[in-house]
Amino acid sequence: MKDRNCKIFKFGGSSLADTQCFVRVSKIILDNYYKEPNLRHVIVVSALGGFTDLLIDIAEKCNANNLYDSKEYKAINHRLTALVEDLLEDSVAREFLELFSNDINSIVKLLNDDLIINNDDTDIEKVIAGFGELWSAKILSLYIAKLLDSDDEVEFIDSRSIIYVQSSDLGAIVDWKKSNECYKKVVTKSQANILIITGFIASNEREQPTNLGRNGSDYSAAIFASLFGAQALVIWTDVDGVMSADPNKVPDAQVVSNLSYNEAMELAYFGAKVIHPKTLNPLMEQKIPVFIRNTFNPEFVGSKISAEKLINSNIKGITVIDSIALINLEGTGMIGVPGTADKLFVALKDENISVTLISQASSEHSICIAVDEHVSDIAKNVIENAFEAELNAGLISKIEATKGQSIIAVVGDEMTGQSGVAGQFFGTLGQAKINVRAIAQGSSERNIS
Ligand code: ASP
Ligand code: MG
Repeated sequence: MKDRNCKIFKFGGSSLADTQCFVRVSKIILDNYYKEPNLRHVIVVSALGGFTDLLIDIAEKCNANNLYDSKEYKAINHRLTALVEDLLEDSVAREFLELFSNDINSIVKLLNDDLIINNDDTDIEKVIAGFGELWSAKILSLYIAKLLDSDDEVEFIDSRSIIYVQSSDLGAIVDWKKSNECYKKVVTKSQANILIITGFIASNEREQPTNLGRNGSDYSAAIFASLFGAQALVIWTDVDGVMSADPNKVPDAQVVSNLSYNEAMELAYFGAKVIHPKTLNPLMEQKIPVFIRNTFNPEFVGSKISAEKLINSNIKGITVIDSIALINLEGTGMIGVPGTADKLFVALKDENISVTLISQASSEHSICIAVDEHVSDIAKNVIENAFEAELNAGLISKIEATKGQSIIAVVGDEMTGQSGVAGQFFGTLGQAKINVRAIAQGSSERNIS
């Protein structure tokens, strides 16, 4: 029961910071809705900008007795009260503030339980962190109902009644079967043409509130796009689109108007943080296109990420990651010996250190990895421990870490099978007298780092 007659809009926290933002966002929603009234508009929202941080601070720092005196509670209370007083009729605002005060009571109770029974506190933190989305979605739905002068056309939906996840080492994993069943139950009941849904939050296998991880509401929107089988997902954010490079570093960086899913993922991973890389996975199978648009510049077309075959320039973007350390492991003892890489990566995994780039020449004489500079001392240490015997025996001659490095990557599908791109890239670096320490290129040839 897919609904190609539907579009998903997602608004992030910076688009929902205050009264003006809610007015702006509502105008975008209604302008689009009036243009295509037969299309169901599904709106997925983040918490008000900064609220998730405030709530997590409450969960970590407050107890039941000092919550009301905390600056975090005061900030939340102040901003929500001002918002509903600006946007809603008095009686509706009062109703909302009652609901809010009940939610705060629930938080007090959670903080209390935490003291008494010493529950698994990460779960309590997850419950508390999720209130921001409940409030923003509720307020937006009440405000849009007021603008439409109708309660039937718009409905608030708590995503915890639809998205079910299991936790894993790699973050939340969606239980698609259960989520699909719940989607059908919840959505078929609804006659409304505008649905306002909480981003970020979900339920776990024990029916407890959880979430999709920080900045997870893009992912929520993508999950809903997939469940609804939507025509398109539009991510409304605070930039014009996916940029060809960081505009702070490259003044003539441009918005890339068309990208493939894979290009967007590579660029998202390497710094151009407009979209969470995980977001695209649920969309690729049904080929649902994603548009990145600017809430603060809604006339601008933005970027389109889709499965369309594109014929244009071979490089889509250039990205940089700074503050990298390069660790080099060198020695004749690694040549032709299976298991060196395994030992290296297991040692790093045990310390929870993530590796950003890997390069090994076919001589197998050295392996070079890049890690975040601030973990490089620990990384070097655990590698030395892991290879203690080989170091003592002289099979590994040295393990070196060099801080203060950067990774530059060029990204583009159409570099595939084209000679010359790498040459141009390295030639340019050479002209600028920049020494290249390590090179990695995935065999997909979509990224040269
Ligand atoms: N509000 C959540 C966060 O700040 C989710 C999101 O904004 O995407 O992490
Ligand atoms: Mg956010």
